[in-house]
Amino acid sequence: ASIFAAVEMAPRDPILGLNESFAADARSEKVNLGVGVYYDDNGKIPLLAAVRTAEKARLEAAPARGYQPIEGPAAYNGAVQNLLFGTDSALLADGKVVTAQALGGTGALKIGADYIRRLLPGATVYISDPSWENHRALFEAAGFPVENYPYYEAGTRGVNFAGMKARLDTLQPGSVVVLHACCHNPTGADLSDAQWNEVVEVCRARGLVPFLDMAYQGFADGIEPDAVAVRAFSASGLQFFISSSFSKSFSLYGERVGALSIVTAGKDESARVLSQLKRVIRTNYSNPPTHGGAIVAAVLNSAELRQMWEDELGGMRDRIRAMRTGLVEQLKAEGVAQDFSFVVKQRGMFSYTGLSAAQVESLKSDFGIYAVSTGRICLAALNSKNIGYVAKAIAQVVK
Ligand code: PMP
Repeated sequence: ASIFAAVEMAPRDPILGLNESFAADARSEKVNLGVGVYYDDNGKIPLLAAVRTAEKARLEAAPARGYQPIEGPAAYNGAVQNLLFGTDSALLADGKVVTAQALGGTGALKIGADYIRRLLPGATVYISDPSWENHRALFEAAGFPVENYPYYEAGTRGVNFAGMKARLDTLQPGSVVVLHACCHNPTGADLSDAQWNEVVEVCRARGLVPFLDMAYQGFADGIEPDAVAVRAFSASGLQFFISSSFSKSFSLYGERVGALSIVTAGKDESARVLSQLKRVIRTNYSNPPTHGGAIVAAVLNSAELRQMWEDELGGMRDRIRAMRTGLVEQLKAEGVAQDFSFVVKQRGMFSYTGLSAAQVESLKSDFGIYAVSTGRICLAALNSKNIGYVAKAIAQVVK
């Protein structure tokens, strides 16, 4: 018999499954609000001008495609560090940060998880309730038990900060706490600057291991303000991990460009930690791919291209904001009595709309509008052509 004869079908990824159903839907007015991707006003994934310029130069330079260092090139890792920690960072000056290029934010989480599993084999990992749907599976696959800490509060559509803090305050020393650094996925509800300082103090008091996930830097208020959590932990003197991604901010989803950064207590520790991280990488995929990282490094290390990129990123941020205010206004204009103004306060690409699973289902069956059954919608999939249709449909299903 075949060795695969008894293999069971794995469950479909809920969000990728949604894409398949969407693709198969024949209605021309259909709208996919389920994805976690930024689309422009024409409903297309943009290729940024800064990226195009850097790609053209790279094509003309026709570099050979030798292997990269296991941790990726210094030009890329240094650029990542400057974005996360700031160019004037004392941690960087003191050699306290180890960075390795990774296969997107997911790849960064994975090499971080594998490394922590070797460092702290008995640790439990805590993620927000709810969290990005891959966090649990990824840390479980790395061998950890995974539990939730309270986060979203449906009543206020904000963060249950008292509940979150109380739970963190009960964790065993050495527990790993995964924190969304900004633009929380899926809720759009972020901590305030003051609350970040409180989280830092709980982590210090209880000896927790913070793991910041930064997948949307620049999508809330801008590169610098969105780094508030990183800066709060940087000032604390604690050791911590950061996974970061350029999938969204550079619109380079398929190129898989991200990084893992680890803050240590000093230069000597950094050298030893990097040597161990390199073992993890070497036994996973040996070394990272060239193209995406080279493009990001070229943009970030050129004053002119960097400015071009920041302007384009600002354009994406502004367009999402316009869709947030537009949706709220149009729902009001459609006669919806319920207050949706919270949509404007949420940050990043997503909104937890409060729509029930049944309402999401009727959006799909009656209108061809696809959203996640939790009520999460992607604001970056709205545009000037479909927003009116979506507002009308939501008004129908909430009546
Ligand atoms: N973390 C969070 C919170 C995310 O939302 C995402 C992407 N949707 C990732 C990590 C993974 O990013 P990437 O696509 O770069 O692997």
